[in-house]
Amino acid sequence: MSTFRAIRIDKAPEGQKGTIASWCDFDEADLMDGDVTVRVTHSTVNYKDGLAITGKSPVVRRFPMIPGIDFAGVVEHSQSGEFKAGDSVVLTGWGVGETHLGGYAQKAQVPASMLVPLPDGLSAAQAMAVGTAGFTAMLCVLALEDHGVTPGAGPAIVTGAAGGVGSVAVALLKAAGWRVVASTGRASEADYLRDLGADEILDRAELSEPGRPLGKERWAAGVDAVGSHTLANVLAQTSYRGAVAACGLAQGMDLPASVAPFILRGVSLLGVDSVMCPKPERIAAWDRLAQDLDLDKLAAMTTHIPFDNVMDVASDILAGKVRGRVVVDIG
Ligand code: NDP
Repeated sequence: MSTFRAIRIDKAPEGQKGTIASWCDFDEADLMDGDVTVRVTHSTVNYKDGLAITGKSPVVRRFPMIPGIDFAGVVEHSQSGEFKAGDSVVLTGWGVGETHLGGYAQKAQVPASMLVPLPDGLSAAQAMAVGTAGFTAMLCVLALEDHGVTPGAGPAIVTGAAGGVGSVAVALLKAAGWRVVASTGRASEADYLRDLGADEILDRAELSEPGRPLGKERWAAGVDAVGSHTLANVLAQTSYRGAVAACGLAQGMDLPASVAPFILRGVSLLGVDSVMCPKPERIAAWDRLAQDLDLDKLAAMTTHIPFDNVMDVASDILAGKVRGRVVVDIG
């Protein structure tokens, strides 16, 4: 029997609610189907990983599950023509860590279709510093660009700015020429956000309470990681023909908005999902990340933790205590 170190999530014993996360030696024979076996070197802690490990939301839909929605590593065996042993690869999404065994493990086995080659110019650790959150931020910026909204039209707002998606979005929008308004609940992170590229810091309390259907036009574009009243207020304050890319629900899944911004100002709400994003778009987004993301800024927003600390940080991220991105050294 060959085993590897992993975190596993099981249903709580009968009579109890929820799930239990624990350390284990996982049997390689119990890996799920996939034509590529990867030695995982790095993973990350995303908001969804926090939900999976703490069991606060039912994101895990197969038991036992190895959580960890993204990883980078080196191919050990491949039965696919697309990858060979020794290739460096990255995975985000596709239900990994939810329905397919995930990245909090020394080994993963997945279909080749889920993997992308490690982008030129990024190490495995840097690719995971980007991770699902940064990749999603890139998809948001690409959605705004595809829509045709440009920095000349006015500033761009980022909500949840000190979080993972938000930090990368601030840096990417600045690199693309935008004046960036960073909305955060953490005044203590103002200098951090300015160093990433924020021109203005907005107290998130200004956006998080129920607001008017239309407000003063303040920004031409937005990346929203927060949802709920915050997204409703961001839309209500978006200027004529502006657009907002929505990807998150840190405040809530609801959207207590009116149609006023859409029908009176031609504002567009662009939905962004990274999980099932088609592979060609993934590769294009990773190429753009490798080109545009300032690696010093990436380093400034990244904390590295040993594998042993994942469970603690999973709770911290749900409590809004994590700044930027967290890379897990699987080691
Ligand atoms: P983080 O926890 O790193 O960041 C979320 C940030 O949101 C926090 O740092 C905080 O920012 C802000 N926030 C937290 N709670 C509240 C609240 N109650 N009201 C207002 N703002 C709040 O998470 P990620 O950046 O990893 O993910 C952000 C969101 O995006 C999550 O909801 C996640 O599920 C979603 N997501 C979606 C993806 C997709 O494919 N659509 C992919 C990746 C993530 P601050 O301290 O600056 O106020």
